[in-house]
Amino acid sequence: MHLETERDPDGGWFDRFVRLVDEDGELVEDFGEHPTLDKLREVERRHGERINLWQQGLVCYKCGNQINDRFAAQTDGHLLCWDCASSEEGEEKGGLRTNVDPTKSVLSASKLHEKSLCDYVINVATGCRHGCRFCYVPSTPAVDSREEMLEEKAEVDDPQRNWGSYILYRDDLPERLHQGLQKKNFSDWKKTDRGRGIVMLSSGTDCYQDRRAAQITHGCVQELIEHDIPVRILSRSPNLTRDIDLFKKAGDRIAVGTSIPTFDASLVNALEPNAPPPQARWEALDQLFRAGVPRFVSFSPTYPTMSRGEIREALGWFAAVDPDVVFHEPINPRGINFDMCVEATRDAGYEKVADELENLKDEDTWKEYALDHIEAVREEAKVYDNIDIHTWPDRRLINAVDGKKKQELLREKKRVSPESF
Ligand code: SF4
Ligand SMILES: [Zn+2]
Repeated sequence: MHLETERDPDGGWFDRFVRLVDEDGELVEDFGEHPTLDKLREVERRHGERINLWQQGLVCYKCGNQINDRFAAQTDGHLLCWDCASSEEGEEKGGLRTNVDPTKSVLSASKLHEKSLCDYVINVATGCRHGCRFCYVPSTPAVDSREEMLEEKAEVDDPQRNWGSYILYRDDLPERLHQGLQKKNFSDWKKTDRGRGIVMLSSGTDCYQDRRAAQITHGCVQELIEHDIPVRILSRSPNLTRDIDLFKKAGDRIAVGTSIPTFDASLVNALEPNAPPPQARWEALDQLFRAGVPRFVSFSPTYPTMSRGEIREALGWFAAVDPDVVFHEPINPRGINFDMCVEATRDAGYEKVADELENLKDEDTWKEYALDHIEAVREEAKVYDNIDIHTWPDRRLINAVDGKKKQELLREKKRVSPESF
């Protein structure tokens, strides 16, 4: 399928009727004039086929120039050429500032193969509306070194403190990825034993956090699947179930998962203020299970107040959706984001959690808790015969122990996740 445009004889030179036609030229959808990006992307999803928006005769809503390369959506959804998009003011609604993202990169090499997650990542946006307090992303160079850009695009004064209140979208990523993949031969890509050439969406944002992000994700996943590239999806949004049909097409070349640190919804709400509740994430996993889509859970980060009983109960919920793997990581008390976690739990009335988190700043207390939680999760998982725990031990923890324990943690760190891909 592709787009066709025709000039409106009664309009200006850039007023064009837009239609979607199939290979035989038969009309599939009639969009009228100036369809929004949302409309075009939703049709793509409905028909299960990607529609390239470059060089199709679409024009910028502001200046009338043809969309031949980079583009973005205006706040009302109309298409803008890159010149017009770059000067957009952005919008603020309900405390969330949105705009377009000037980032050039499409696919970046990632160190997440150390967690057996992926070799490459695609981030569909800069910023994340979920605003998890423990999120390390705002302290990484992708955000931390771009203060000026964030200030200009979204009036961000402090990328870390304001995390959760800004999001800059990369609307044309599917087109750019398509172009990039034409030039790259996947067999030449960097692969590691643990990464297996997997591309993950997304590590620096939530790729299904809202409809606009989900549309970008859909286009990228479709491109990757067409090139037979293994894909991992990690999202806290049950919104991911909108693409179950697409995931099914990928067979075992995809793994879709979500993070559930605990089923205590109000604690999750304190630490992940804008993310959907854990039960809704589990329900998304359940839908993936029913559809036969390969799935995983990130049981991370687990909190020091969690008892063995709570750990067992959480694992029981995971076992019910039969995941290929459950990744587990205790919380690591580092940097300003850890202080923000303590602050957030105290503000939410979780005094005990706040105190226990505060205690973890003492290296020995943290070490004891982390080792204890790793062991507890591994032992409790034995109750269920379908749970494979893949621990992510922190380097500091490995360095702090010796003997058999060190060997065990090192083995776990080097392990390849059991997924088939
Ligand atoms: S969903 Fe992920 S990227 Fe977004 S704030 Fe939470 S941890 Fe960070
Ligand atoms: Zn323009």
